[in-house]
Amino acid sequence: MYDPNNVFAKILRGELPVTRVYEDAHVLAFKDIRPAAPIHVLVVTKAPYTSFDDFSVHASKEEVIQFWGGVRETVHALKLSARGYRVITNVGADGGQEVPHFHVHILAGKPLGAKVCA
Ligand code: AMP
Repeated sequence: MYDPNNVFAKILRGELPVTRVYEDAHVLAFKDIRPAAPIHVLVVTKAPYTSFDDFSVHASKEEVIQFWGGVRETVHALKLSARGYRVITNVGADGGQEVPHFHVHILAGKPLGAKVCA
């Protein structure tokens, strides 16, 4: 069940300020308020999906293409392709998902090291 009062829903409605990096009809990309790397940007769907799990089951092929196109445009806007970057998404309790609205994290700006957390 999607919670329309989650923090990203409020951001999408313009109720909370963010530093925007990229926006189109399908996604909004903005800086993470607690950056875990020199560059830490979130790309969120404008449609109300709770997680990647929800999105991967219920989104149309067109929506999937539109979402990943938005991620690609965000990477281009940040000029990250030459040095590299990491894209991750957290799902549910074990995944450490804090905000129940589908999003990916783009992390960059330094060598990011191991892929797992302690
Ligand atoms: P996750 O754990 O994958 O759900 O990640 C949620 C992310 O949202 C965290 O990295 C938070 O720092 C970030 N976050 C929470 N509130 C805000 C906000 N108001 N503006 C920007 N980022 C936020």
